[in-house]
Amino acid sequence: MSSLVVAIDGPSGSGKSSTSRGVAARLGLRYLDTGAMFRAMTWWMLRHDVDVHDPAAVAARVAEPLVESGTDPLGPTIHVDGLDASVAIRSDEVNAGVSPVSAVPEVRARLLELQRAIIGDGGIVVEGRDIGSVVAPDAPVKIYLSADPQARAVRRAAEAGGDVATTQESLLARDRIDSGRTTAPLVMADGAVHIDTTPYTLDQVISRVVALVEGAEARA
Ligand code: C5P
Repeated sequence: MSSLVVAIDGPSGSGKSSTSRGVAARLGLRYLDTGAMFRAMTWWMLRHDVDVHDPAAVAARVAEPLVESGTDPLGPTIHVDGLDASVAIRSDEVNAGVSPVSAVPEVRARLLELQRAIIGDGGIVVEGRDIGSVVAPDAPVKIYLSADPQARAVRRAAEAGGDVATTQESLLARDRIDSGRTTAPLVMADGAVHIDTTPYTLDQVISRVVALVEGAEARA
C-alpha cells in the first residue's frame, strides 16, 4: 500500500477534497491538494501586485514563491513564504484569479515539479484536475468525480458560505477556463473510473473508492 498513488480529478464541488481526504485517512496514505498549490501561487501574485490576467507578468515571477504543502489528510496545511495561507487561499479574490493563473504553462511546470517531489515514492492520494492525465499518468487507481452543477454549488456554498446562485456562477466560470485551457486541461484521464457523486453520501463515495483501491492492490 505504501507505494500506491491514487489520482482523483474532477471539477470544483464534485466532492474531490472530502473524498480524497477520507480515502487517505482510511487507508493510512498521505494526501496532496494540488488545487491549494495553484491557489497559493495566485494568492502570492495578488499580494505582490502582479496582474493575474497577464500571463507574461505571472510567468516572470513564477520562481519566487516558496510553496509548502503538508500532507496529513486529517490536517493538511499550505504555507507560502513561511506564512499559513490556508484561509487566505479560499477568498473570493483568489477564486476569481486562480483559473487564469493556472492556465499559465510556467505556473504548471513549476508546480508539477513540486507535486512530483511530494509524490516521491507514493503512498498518497492526490487530487486536482490533471493528476491522472499529466502529474501521475501511471497511477494504478484513477478516479474522475463529477456532480451536477446545482449539487456542486449547494455543497460549496454550505462549506464556504455565500449564496448558491453566485457560487454556481463562479464554479461554472472556473470550469470553462479549466476545461478549455491548452496546457493540462481538466479531462477524464485514460483508464479513470467515473463516479457521479450527485446521488451518494460522502461515506458511500469514500467506500466505493476504497474498494477500487483494494481491488487494484489485490491485482498488483
Ligand atoms: O480544487 P480547487 O477548486 O481548489 O482548485 C482551484 C483551481 O486550481 C482550479 O479551478 C484550477 O484552475 C486549478 N487547478 C489546476 N490543476 C490542478 C488543481 C487545480 O489547474 N491539478
